[in-house]
Amino acid sequence: MNGPEVLIVGAGPIGIELAVRLRRERISYEQVDAGQIGSTISWYAPQTQFFSSPERIAIAGVPLQTLDQSKATREEYLTYLRSVVLQFDLKVETGVRVNAITRGDDGFVVTAFGRDGERKRTAQNVVLAIGDMHRPHLLGVPGEDLPHVSHFFGDPHAYFRRQVLVVGGRNSAVEAAIRCVRVAAIVTLSYRAAELDPKHVKPWLLPEINAMIRDSRMTFLPGTTLREITPAHVVLDPGGRRIDADSVLLLTGYEQDSSLFESAGVTLVGPQRRPRFNEATMETDVPGLYVAGTAAAGTQVSGTTAFIETSHIHVDRIAAALKGEPAPVETQAYAVPEQ
Ligand SMILES: Cc1cc2nc3c(=O)[nH]c(=O)nc-3n(C[C@H](O)[C@H](O)[C@H](O)COP(=O)(O)OP(=O)(O)OC[C@H]3O[C@@H](n4cnc5c(N)ncnc54)[C@H](O)[C@@H]3O)c2cc1C
Repeated sequence: MNGPEVLIVGAGPIGIELAVRLRRERISYEQVDAGQIGSTISWYAPQTQFFSSPERIAIAGVPLQTLDQSKATREEYLTYLRSVVLQFDLKVETGVRVNAITRGDDGFVVTAFGRDGERKRTAQNVVLAIGDMHRPHLLGVPGEDLPHVSHFFGDPHAYFRRQVLVVGGRNSAVEAAIRCVRVAAIVTLSYRAAELDPKHVKPWLLPEINAMIRDSRMTFLPGTTLREITPAHVVLDPGGRRIDADSVLLLTGYEQDSSLFESAGVTLVGPQRRPRFNEATMETDVPGLYVAGTAAAGTQVSGTTAFIETSHIHVDRIAAALKGEPAPVETQAYAVPEQ
């Protein structure tokens, strides 16, 4: 079968780190991404700060410097990813979405859709570095598809002096609520749990939001769930309480699209639908098909455990497996995330 030794699907931080590694090892590869490089990070709200420290999300041995020696922002990290791609002259075919993968006798046939329409490509091995945040977790409430309802927090300016209902109680929701208050929005935060959990909120955000709630700068409604959204208000349970809302932000998490794993015949395990793979090599139960980055976690249903910093080792494992070398030993520093 023709084609490169490896096709990398996805050019997020881990897909890019793997590309640098394969280039250094002189292993032939091609790389495609459905969007732009770093596209998952590109949809963070402007100036969102990573919670991981810069050195833990730096890739390929290239230092990540930030303006104020603090955590990198979305903009700093996207600049960094572009620089890494330029520095190593990586060829990423952007705007190419892989739709199906089938295994033949001596490699893979990959169906991808790009500028030229649908095209079949071949590769001896495939690495899925596709991430785990492909679509929002839908609540399934009436009105969820109305135009003033979004599952993504974009530019806070859009919420200036608007009545905003934010649903959720983890990092994304808490950060959106704080930033909306700071752009003079009238904010209500609805969360199904009884209180905000420090395990799920960046340590520097928790005191900020608690002070805003205490000082009545926003309304916090713990123990509430959304029953319905109308163009002018929402209805919350218990009790059917009505809250006026010009904008509704449903920040309740994201799900992985596991259709590529399914099309290739990878076994999906547990409620996360986590691909089955060998921890030492990252090879799935389809020989020659590997998984890297947060894609290995499936949908992170009960708290996030897979991050950029815990995924660098995937690159070492895949490179070793492709070269037929023993699996690398994981360093303690990155085995668990910093926070
Ligand atoms: C607001 C916010 C803050 C965050 N902060 C942090 C943090 O501090 N630290 C941290 O580690 N993580 C953080 N995350 C999560 C972070 O975005 C992920 O950990 C990181 O992006 C994972 O990198 P990855 O390379 O594994 O996958 P991704 O960055 O998700 O890259 C996957 C790539 O695959 C492409 N792709 C997907 N499907 C296909 C397909 N079928 N065909 C072709 N291409 C495809 C996508 O376009 C994407 O570019 C945060 C997330 C959010 C929303």
